[in-house]
Amino acid sequence: MNQIDPKQSPTTEQRYQPAGLYLVQLDPQSVVDGVRYDDTYLADEIRTCGTMRETCPVCGDGHLQLVLRQKSVRIPHLFCLECTRCFGAFLEDGTPALIE
Ligand SMILES: [Zn+2]
Repeated sequence: MNQIDPKQSPTTEQRYQPAGLYLVQLDPQSVVDGVRYDDTYLADEIRTCGTMRETCPVCGDGHLQLVLRQKSVRIPHLFCLECTRCFGAFLEDGTPALIE
């Protein structure tokens, strides 16, 4: 597995589409069963399955966490711990990249 030093600032080439992977922001309510509080959306017991090489395209800070389908997760997705956004990953031809 390739590990990237999180302290290293990303170069323009390796920002968030390293292998032709397209990230699309998803509405958390459509991917995770949870409860919405004022401006956050909480779901319990979501297990992340690993850290991706891709960093968050929105805040650019966090490496995305891989979240596969589980009790309260309806759609496998990538999750940013920093800004708590959810992303779907698609290949160049539009096929979902996250299939179990
Ligand atoms: Zn983020």
